[in-house]
Amino acid sequence: MCGVIGVIGPFQNPEPSFAAYEAYRGLLTLQHRGQDAAGLLSWDHGSQRFYQEKDLGLVADVFNKEKLEKLRGPVAIGHTRYATAGGDGREDLQPLVSGFPVGTGMVHNGNLVNYHSLSRQMSAEMGMRFVTHNDLEVFLHLWGHFLREAQGDFSFERAKVAAQEIFNRTEGAYALIGMVSDEGLFGLRDPGGIRPMVLGRKQVSETDSRLIHCLTSETVALNFLGYEYVRDIEPGEFVFINTEGEVLSYHCTNKPQKTPCMFEWVYFSGAESTLEGKSVYTSRLNLGTVLARKLKPMIASGEIEADIVCPVPDTSRTASISLSEGLGLPYREALIKNRYIHRSFILNTQEAREKAVELKLSPVRSEIEGKNILLVDDSIVRGTTCKKIISLLKRYGAKKITLAVTCAPIRHACYYGIDFPSPDELAAKDSKADAIAALVGATHVVYLDENDIREAIGLKNLCMACLNNKYPTSIEEGGEFAKLRRKK
Ligand code: SF4
Repeated sequence: MCGVIGVIGPFQNPEPSFAAYEAYRGLLTLQHRGQDAAGLLSWDHGSQRFYQEKDLGLVADVFNKEKLEKLRGPVAIGHTRYATAGGDGREDLQPLVSGFPVGTGMVHNGNLVNYHSLSRQMSAEMGMRFVTHNDLEVFLHLWGHFLREAQGDFSFERAKVAAQEIFNRTEGAYALIGMVSDEGLFGLRDPGGIRPMVLGRKQVSETDSRLIHCLTSETVALNFLGYEYVRDIEPGEFVFINTEGEVLSYHCTNKPQKTPCMFEWVYFSGAESTLEGKSVYTSRLNLGTVLARKLKPMIASGEIEADIVCPVPDTSRTASISLSEGLGLPYREALIKNRYIHRSFILNTQEAREKAVELKLSPVRSEIEGKNILLVDDSIVRGTTCKKIISLLKRYGAKKITLAVTCAPIRHACYYGIDFPSPDELAAKDSKADAIAALVGATHVVYLDENDIREAIGLKNLCMACLNNKYPTSIEEGGEFAKLRRKK
């Protein structure tokens, strides 16, 4: 999973690094989508060159004023990386750039499932050589190859041909944002719209009605930067925003099968964002309400004992509020998060993840001792984190602990950019709720089911492949793809 952004403003702008600053500020709001690395690329019409900065680390650590001032030009793209494929090395960091046949820079969020066969085929048939292990390079080479094949000066018509060829050949999830030197900014979204992309716009100033456009992963970035939300980019849609501020659109398919990732609402996206017209915050409140409906009879019958509702911070807090309201139980934050420690889910080794759990959550003894706790989490992936938290709560005097999960059991791999690497590592792979409870040390584990999640988000068609094994694309190359994953 990654965060992506692209900004294009008028070519005559008094602030030379305006677009890079906008993209940088936007990336700060998308930091939750990836914490491994960050990068920015700009194109300056005046000097006719690209400027680039990228490095491992958080957005605020990678960039400073001096670096941002160098990123001149009215167009910029940015990326914050959560590495699920490729290596940890700098050669795999985004953006990637190519000068052939026109200067193009790209960033993307997602994963190409057919990366291996496609890159082999491109090497054999088109003579291409790959210098990274990043699937973005496939997009970049296909774009260059088919733009050249289309011949003539750069135009939207030529760009459409290249976008269609990319669309026809690639399999997987992608929200791709690119820029073409002196021509504009573009976005392309996979046929299922698995990964999100939204379009926003604003005027240069109150007195200057020329438009600045922004393509990005989530509306939280648009809101923060003061852009008016225009719309979500459609699955299979190619949009091109030219230097005049015109937004041109082409649909690579007339039969899009919209299947956005349910996990964007359950866990990944910022609570402030709205995707596909559905507020992430409201969806999480609804997940808690549906969970309350499920738990009420179990509590009434005495099957489950609960004195307080306690979230595993942060994502589960929203659902815990509505759950406590629905059950008439007090909401208590018995675990206080150390905000300076990264999400354990995103840390890159098992050892780091285990240490991080203890570092990042401080128990509040007065709220724990002698209580039956209804602990709320957004998912159980490996079970490592839950197990540590439950053992921590017991050490601080908790009586019975029921784990309520605002998702269904995750039993299958994700090939679309979320890090559930191998089904063997998933706590729920072959286990029922009782066995999972025993594994994590809880008295009970209560899950939602697929329909509960659809109801809470308010969308019928969602990717839920990690729950039900129904993948919206071919995963023939899933095995080979797994080898590309970052070593854990
Ligand atoms: S498999 Fe699961 S995590 Fe991956 S895209 Fe589908 S719903 Fe999201």
